[in-house]
Amino acid sequence: MKVLIIGGGGREHALAWKFSKSKHVTKVYVAPGNKGMENVAECVDMNEDDHDGLVQFAKEQEIALTVVGPEAPLLKGIVDRFEAEGLRVFGPTKDAAFIEGSKSFAKELMERHNIPTGSYFVTSDYEEAVEYVKKEGIPIVIKADGLAAGKGVTVAFTEEEAINALTEVLKEGKFGEAGAQVVIEEYLEGEELSLMAFVHGDTVIPMVGAQDHKRAYDNDEGPNTGGMGAYSPVPQFSQEDIDSAVRDILQPAASGLKAEGRFFSGILYAGLMMTGAGAKVIEFNARFGDPEAQIILPRLESDLFTVIMDLLDGKKPELEWSEDAVLGVVAASKGYPGAYEKHQPIRSVPESDYLFFAGIDQIDGQLVTSGGRVLLISEKAPTLKEAKEKVYEKLQSLDDEHLFYRKDIGDKAIYRSSL
Ligand code: ATP
Repeated sequence: MKVLIIGGGGREHALAWKFSKSKHVTKVYVAPGNKGMENVAECVDMNEDDHDGLVQFAKEQEIALTVVGPEAPLLKGIVDRFEAEGLRVFGPTKDAAFIEGSKSFAKELMERHNIPTGSYFVTSDYEEAVEYVKKEGIPIVIKADGLAAGKGVTVAFTEEEAINALTEVLKEGKFGEAGAQVVIEEYLEGEELSLMAFVHGDTVIPMVGAQDHKRAYDNDEGPNTGGMGAYSPVPQFSQEDIDSAVRDILQPAASGLKAEGRFFSGILYAGLMMTGAGAKVIEFNARFGDPEAQIILPRLESDLFTVIMDLLDGKKPELEWSEDAVLGVVAASKGYPGAYEKHQPIRSVPESDYLFFAGIDQIDGQLVTSGGRVLLISEKAPTLKEAKEKVYEKLQSLDDEHLFYRKDIGDKAIYRSSL
């Protein structure tokens, strides 16, 4: 059977790789895909916003299952469109994906269903926002309400930073419609955990936990990025911590959406802060995390195609996981997440257990950069420490003239495990 994946980054490369391993899948297409994934999939030169073209392609090629990688097409209703055409698709409808598309909606949903999260205030009025910040004090977090590709969040440690962020969002319209309102949030302290689940209505099948590294530079310094590396498992948290987060967060979120007429089918991602008072939600996403997908899918031993088809058929598939650890490091264009040069050559890329490409292209047979995050190199090993050593050894033979990567992915977890 044939599978179509929509998107073109490292997450989609990992999905394509995983589907290519399925005994039921004969062909994997990715639209638009990227030049680095052609060993596991055929790239289709079609934009993820071209819903008409994608529907037509899925019909012509008799695609058995379409999976949507990124959030933008979900929020533009690609799943609604595929479903209306009678095509099998995995991802939430526009209404259900709103849990990611509006941070104020997500907060209100959590309030209605008693899901633990920090206190918050939503407004479109600048003066009111400033007043709230002054009343609450710092640290405080300012977020544009809508999608801003990870750039709409300011964790403010001074009142000035908070007010600057409010000015940019509400007065200067830096994020357009996505910043028509702000969500001002209580600052939560603790370690972060990414917890994802396969969801279909009330059915919630959790995955293993992962931890991303959002900041650009070592020791969590520098600006926020899409994610510079990740690992799984996360030994800082016990299975009980994860079970409680599923029970108190993912399950009520899925059931709450269904009860409110927003049946969610797809991957539900909870970004959690593990505080002294238990897990609290920082954000929900309506799709696989990137780079979390690249390190979690290699640990999944079950057949991804069967898991998703069973779920869509109303069954409750059991997931099997490798006991091994996987750790992955992102190499990004120098300058990212700020301005960077494109089309810079990468003359050597090491072989690794799992190598997933994102912002990559090919010119005259030469691999060149085409985006911020360029590739992720990951390794699997019995322990995180060994996985980390293997990854960094491999990275020595990467041509990094135009790339940079963090040197400390997984360090906190490795330190904890050694205590
Ligand atoms: P992405 O698109 O990358 O998922 P986003 O734009 O949806 O990100 P969030 O995940 O909500 O943004 O926030 C980005 C980062 O800011 C978080 O990973 C976390 O490190 C920090 N952050 C967000 N909210 C809080 C909070 N309430 N307290 C402390 N830190 C926070």
